[in-house]
Amino acid sequence: MKPLGFCERCGYFEGICRCKRGKILIDGEKRERVSKFLSGLLRHYPERFNVELDEYGWANIRDVLKVLRERYGIDRNILELIVRFDPKGRFEIKNEKIRAKYGHSVRVKFNWSEEGEIPPRLYHGTHPKNVDSILKEGLRPMKRLEVHLSESFEDAVEVGKRYHPNPVVLVIDTKSLLNHGFKIRKKGKVYTTDYVPPECIVDVVKT
Ligand SMILES: [Zn+2]
Repeated sequence: MKPLGFCERCGYFEGICRCKRGKILIDGEKRERVSKFLSGLLRHYPERFNVELDEYGWANIRDVLKVLRERYGIDRNILELIVRFDPKGRFEIKNEKIRAKYGHSVRVKFNWSEEGEIPPRLYHGTHPKNVDSILKEGLRPMKRLEVHLSESFEDAVEVGKRYHPNPVVLVIDTKSLLNHGFKIRKKGKVYTTDYVPPECIVDVVKT
């Protein structure tokens, strides 16, 4: 990873700052080690370091800092930098708490609206007669509360076959959907959302 630092002219920076006179606060090698540890701590083994996560995965930043200070001599300032510049957006800090945004093996409740957890494409199988109106008005929940999306093309075909022997599969661009402000929730193998605007449907495949 690149180092992180602070410059009086340029502010906080990753790599080197524009005026090249900024001071490095943590070198790249150490940054990598601390990030990796933090990820393990918040996703997989908080109890090993006496850090408690609430049901949404939040830990008190004080508890985490205590561990980081002892192991790596890291202070609050540097922790915030590591979180802010993380290339995969793995962490977030809010109200004196910190959590991993995705990738847990410990049990946590989540909206799973994180791009890291959502595949780039999701699929929806439907009756061929619905396609025109969906492409015009978007995909709305029919009898359910939410629109259901499948993880694979094959799963979507299976779902669509409940309605028609040769269903049509709509291909959804999830990044575009998230950018439109809609949340995508992962529920087992199924993903749900409240609505899919027509512009997020990138392909229509007949089977
Ligand atoms: Zn500078």
